[in-house]
Amino acid sequence: MRYAEGKTMSMCHRPQSLALGVLMLCLAACGQQSSDTIAPDLILVNAHVVTMDAADSIAQAIAVRGDRITAVGTEQMIRPLAGPQTELIDVGGNTVTPGLIDTHNHFAWGALGKTSPLNIEYPAVTSIEDIKEQVRLAAANLKSGEWIIGSRWDAGKLLEQRDLTAADLDDVSPDNPVWLLHTSAHYGVANTKALELAGIDAGTPDPNGGVIARDDEGNPSGILADQAMALVADITPPVSVEDFVRAVSERVGFLNAEGITTIKDPEIDQRHWDAYKTINENGDLSVRVFALWRVPDTMAEARELLQHIRPIMNRGGDAVDLISGGIKIYIDGSGTARTAWMYDDWNENFTDVDEGNTGLTYLETDLLLAQIRLFHDAGVHIGTHAIGDRAIDFTLDSYDRVLTDKPTMSLRHSIIHCNLPTAHAMDLMVKLQRDYDAAYPEVQPAFLWWIGDVYAGNFGAERSRQVLPLRTFQERGIKWAGSSDFDVSPYAPRYALWAASAREAMLGTYGENPWGTDESISVHDTLRAYTINAARQVFLEQKVGSIEEGKLADIVVWDRDLYSIPVSELKEVKPVLTLMNGEVVYRASN
Ligand SMILES: [Zn+2]
Repeated sequence: MRYAEGKTMSMCHRPQSLALGVLMLCLAACGQQSSDTIAPDLILVNAHVVTMDAADSIAQAIAVRGDRITAVGTEQMIRPLAGPQTELIDVGGNTVTPGLIDTHNHFAWGALGKTSPLNIEYPAVTSIEDIKEQVRLAAANLKSGEWIIGSRWDAGKLLEQRDLTAADLDDVSPDNPVWLLHTSAHYGVANTKALELAGIDAGTPDPNGGVIARDDEGNPSGILADQAMALVADITPPVSVEDFVRAVSERVGFLNAEGITTIKDPEIDQRHWDAYKTINENGDLSVRVFALWRVPDTMAEARELLQHIRPIMNRGGDAVDLISGGIKIYIDGSGTARTAWMYDDWNENFTDVDEGNTGLTYLETDLLLAQIRLFHDAGVHIGTHAIGDRAIDFTLDSYDRVLTDKPTMSLRHSIIHCNLPTAHAMDLMVKLQRDYDAAYPEVQPAFLWWIGDVYAGNFGAERSRQVLPLRTFQERGIKWAGSSDFDVSPYAPRYALWAASAREAMLGTYGENPWGTDESISVHDTLRAYTINAARQVFLEQKVGSIEEGKLADIVVWDRDLYSIPVSELKEVKPVLTLMNGEVVYRASN
């Protein structure tokens, strides 16, 4: 179908009104209603509708009835469909998009973290002294021995520009064990009390795939990275299904307020699944959730997980609101802790070299390949965490091997993060996407901004320019999907829309654009990664991800025209209305 304005993006399209509110008109007096039995419940007019259909059509109006989009097209086509009960909204020339899909959002964990009274996230804290004060206040309200748990601190945003240590925390909490997870979720800091409870001392060896950081005398500094985190995390107070139900129910509406209608929660266990099920059954799950199960470390446990999830896997079936969709495997660590797996040594402070450190793999590579093969051969969709160039090559080589040995179409295995892909990796993405409908990057443009200062410092001046090569993806026809990795970076997609174009680090520690701008892309490319491309990564592209007749009515009306505002303003755009399955799940109060 072609619409009046044709299929190209009109960059000079000006909104007729930038009013934040929407104008609601009653059509009862206009005298040309259709029979109300077939009339839409809702009509949006005077809109810049970015449909994201195959032809990239632009439309001006949409009709919705029940949970479906019933018509898309010009004003002249859509207005006459209205009946006496139809709500008509004049969008004022602003942008309307499909509901946004965040393909990597640890929402259950992140929502739980937000319920903690301890707020050590920037900008609530800007120094180590601020964090110490928060911990001191928390300790004052607890009995001796009770745990203090927090998350989301980031050395790159602290005045002192260094990681916390056990000694920092001992000053303010000598008797209460403390565990503060870094915003990357790939490392954290424990105080001496917590280290003692975990049995960690100078003689404790680093576990496989993990690092116990040590001071000059060889004593644990308090920082535990990757697989070493479990030593402390496993002895913290347990979190129940009810805790997750409460946290997710309370906060899911915030996703709708940012235009999100679907998430892929990439690391669930039974508690998260039970919580999502309960919330869905209560009718309170206002985003659809596609979940990946975390694969445990041993082959025996991996086989057990496969048996456990087989009966409840419902990817590509009739379920659209809660989907047990696949599994997640970790190859390497993170860019913030310099534990991602690299060919060359990590940098530090942009130009220094972290001599001898090329990161780590979570498990032996033979075991990682065997796990990928196990789930691939069973027909399970795989999401693989790979950040470093070497980890990404390993992931794609593994996908190539298992797909060659057992060719299977459309499992859409993904490379989660895919921060520094080599030319070889990109060649394999092109090949595997074409031949098997597999090997899609699921990336987080907001990393460049939110954790961008430390990140650029670690990747170094030269490699930073190759991080997240989104323009190259576009030019080579590599389909990729957008995401936040909440709570590593904030979930609001507006930050990704902006960051993918601006490529600016938050504080400018190594200059405003340590990433360069050669790999900048347009708002439209990022929106496509957050809609139809993302829909493919949750196997729902026939149902959501574009505004087309017959699809589920997941729609966002934005408060301005995303295509004509300055790039810097993208960070501030807000929905005025979010629909999921045709239901209003968010409406701005003014
Ligand atoms: Zn993640």
